[in-house]
Amino acid sequence: MSWKGRALDPSLPNGRSECTLRLSGANLIAELPEGEDMTLNLGDVDYVVRGYDKKEYVFRKKNAHHPLFSTYDIGLIKAIKEANILEFNEALHRHKKDTWASRRRKYIIPFVMLITLIVGGTWFVAYPAVDMAVAVTPISVDREVGKIAIADLIHNEVQDPVVTGAIQKIVKRLVKHVPEKEFHFNVHVIDNPMVNAFAAPGGEIVVMTGLIKESESAEEVAGVLAHEISHVTERHGLEKIYRQAVFLIALNVIIGDAGAIAEIALNGASDLANLGFSRSMEREADLEGHLLLVKSGINPSGLRSFFEKLAKKHEHNENAAVRLLSTHPLSKDRVEYLAEKEKELKNNFEKLDIDWQAVKDKLK
Ligand SMILES: [Zn+2]
Repeated sequence: MSWKGRALDPSLPNGRSECTLRLSGANLIAELPEGEDMTLNLGDVDYVVRGYDKKEYVFRKKNAHHPLFSTYDIGLIKAIKEANILEFNEALHRHKKDTWASRRRKYIIPFVMLITLIVGGTWFVAYPAVDMAVAVTPISVDREVGKIAIADLIHNEVQDPVVTGAIQKIVKRLVKHVPEKEFHFNVHVIDNPMVNAFAAPGGEIVVMTGLIKESESAEEVAGVLAHEISHVTERHGLEKIYRQAVFLIALNVIIGDAGAIAEIALNGASDLANLGFSRSMEREADLEGHLLLVKSGINPSGLRSFFEKLAKKHEHNENAAVRLLSTHPLSKDRVEYLAEKEKELKNNFEKLDIDWQAVKDKLK
């Protein structure tokens, strides 16, 4: 069998000649119209495929420019492969790798650039998109998210009216000063030794009896509740869920699909109780909570002093039950900005009219 090809070598007229190529063992032989045949041992060649459409198969003596044989006839390549010339397999293999490498260069680089553009572009709009997504979500969605978020926590609800009445009284006094009336504040006191309180989107508030037992006054619990209520009014729960799904949120903000955004909120609801808030959200809840206490005529120092007391008490044995401290670590910074805020106050607070000891006695 033979295939049409070309030979290049300085010994040829004009350095080149049409030729007929044939295989003989491991040798590729170029039969020239004039002169002697030329031979390349396939164990001793570099093999490349050239041309824009990669259709010119080129054989060249290793480490030399000449002689060089080439063909456009893939039949020769097939025949070489079928002959399974051991010495040449390596060259074929090397070529395959080169082809992959060149394909990578050809496609992967634009692909990576495209992805970078999409991801980078989405990042650019990501955080503003989260804020926009919160703004376009109706508060009715917060309320639904809140109900899902606390569903697992609502066990052993305390029924004693002295206890529930006291917490409700504090919440009522605080939320009177919440301008947004679409939140539905709803209190659940749970018989649980954890020192914790949690407010879910929309206004569902959960207070563990462990927190009430650790407190010394209604003002201390009011401080925690004002902080939690501020997480609700600032809609931090929704913001947290949206940040977890930031790319999806950005995409849906761009295409303006409010339904899909609400769907994301509902899907993230069940994890919410396990997600901590960011430091900036905590700071915001502290400062807003402080303001809410002041507006409600409640001494806001309970917010700081209760955390300080907890931190001091559990300084040396980190008690996992004091969940409030692990989600709200009392950094130096936190004490400082709260204490700073308290300096500005005039002392015209009305003590909460609750017999706190009677409340605690009910939980013994
Ligand atoms: Zn908080």
